[in-house]
Amino acid sequence: MQKILNYINGQLIEPVSKSYLGNPDPSTGEVYSLCPDSDAADVESAVAAAKAAFNQWSNTPSEKRTRIMTRIAELIESNLDTFAKAETIDQGKPLWLSKNGEIPRAVSNMRFFGTAIEHFASEAHPMGDHAINYTLRTPIGVVGCISPWNLPLYLFTWKIAPAIAAGNCVVAKPSEVTPMTAFLLSEICIEAGLPAGVLNIVHGLGVKVGSAITAHPEIKAISFTGGTKTGEEIARIAAPMFKKLSLELGGKNPNIIFADCDFEKMLDETVRSSFLNQGEICLCGSRIFIERPLYEKFKIAFINKVKAELIVGDPLDAATKTGAIVSKIHFEKVLSYIELAKQEGGNVLCGGNAVKPEGRCNKGWFIEPTVIEGLSYNCRTNQEEIFGPVVTLTPFDTEEEVLMMANSTQYGLASTIWTENLTRAHRMAAQIKAGIIWINCWLLRDLRTPFGGVKSSGVGREGGWEALRFFTEAKNVCIKL
Ligand code: NDP
Repeated sequence: MQKILNYINGQLIEPVSKSYLGNPDPSTGEVYSLCPDSDAADVESAVAAAKAAFNQWSNTPSEKRTRIMTRIAELIESNLDTFAKAETIDQGKPLWLSKNGEIPRAVSNMRFFGTAIEHFASEAHPMGDHAINYTLRTPIGVVGCISPWNLPLYLFTWKIAPAIAAGNCVVAKPSEVTPMTAFLLSEICIEAGLPAGVLNIVHGLGVKVGSAITAHPEIKAISFTGGTKTGEEIARIAAPMFKKLSLELGGKNPNIIFADCDFEKMLDETVRSSFLNQGEICLCGSRIFIERPLYEKFKIAFINKVKAELIVGDPLDAATKTGAIVSKIHFEKVLSYIELAKQEGGNVLCGGNAVKPEGRCNKGWFIEPTVIEGLSYNCRTNQEEIFGPVVTLTPFDTEEEVLMMANSTQYGLASTIWTENLTRAHRMAAQIKAGIIWINCWLLRDLRTPFGGVKSSGVGREGGWEALRFFTEAKNVCIKL
């Protein structure tokens, strides 16, 4: 059985404890590889390696950092098929999605930040003719990056790329649920000539490895993506140590559909924004609000399309649109929310059940795309993050009403608005409490834009200069002329 190894000080090594966790393939439910069950001792060696590498890496000319990062991007790209298959087996998403979405995006992250650092500049503030201020932006030192299981390599590289581009050395932990592509990345980093210690990947559980990273006094900044509860725990430990924190947390995003929208375009995108990646994307629109005159038409067309198109099955099969749920625990959690929705008075319009596909995936964790109506906007199903293939439909009559419902959760990550009325689109965008608004589209991403949420969806922004600013310290120098 394949053994995943830690990547510390440029070497692929076993965890100090020599213990491993079974890593299942969610499409079969069977353990297919072993993930290091690392602990604080491995984090300690990773921090020591990162500290030792920092002086040289932070003084490496940015063109050389760019060359190495571009090489890493090229090597991932030339191994696209291997990476895509590994991601699909580890995570459960359809292979076409790994191939066309997830892995190409990891390549873009490395290339984007690897080259962005060549253009990164800082400010100067002249004070008339008697003084000038200029701002230095220097790397922080050793930083921690902790990422979740839903978009494994995509979100892992989204953090480590700006961190190393800016001259930091990194101790990173991918989710223990999906460690495989981070392991493949460590092999690529060695091949690309990334100096030892610049990136260290410690595999294992959040409660052991993640918390050791968070609490380590030599790690001066933490970039975390994951659940809101885990974010709270990280903030509780890191804030009194005055670490820089970037927290990208949960969401319960509204998808607001007005009767004047371009119906066909909206319908196609709404199927995607509801169920892509089995609904396991923090940006999915899980609460769909439909203006009442359109409600019945939308409901019928949406359900027909979901039933006809979203084939659930073997993620390696090209016809599959909905793959496996990432883990048994998560599978049970999603099903428990469907039960809760029924208890809360919800009417399941389609889906609602676990699926046992024929053949090799018969013991995998699959759930039908599920559409529910008849729930109040403030019930638990409509307030708590489910993070699976489950959406609710709610009619609305006025802008005021839908704004109230859209803004009623503790979350504020993203929102989608469908209308051909430009004035209304602007008005709504300004009033929705979220960090990201899409108008007549969804998941259209420009890596230069600020990315992140408000309220319990997080603190700080990733993307573009925001990420490079997060991973550097600003120092103002004032010279009297
Ligand atoms: P978790 O919060 O459970 O885990 C995220 C990462 O943190 C994992 O690597 C996990 O390790 C680790 N971790 C767990 N406990 C601790 C701890 N005490 N200290 C430090 N690290 C810890 O999230 P999931 O992996 O379940 O991911 C799903 C969540 O991520 C959803 O809430 C989703 O909305 C959110 N998310 C947010 C995004 C955003 O951009 N805002 C994007 C994508 C997802 P382990 O795997 O071992 O538990």
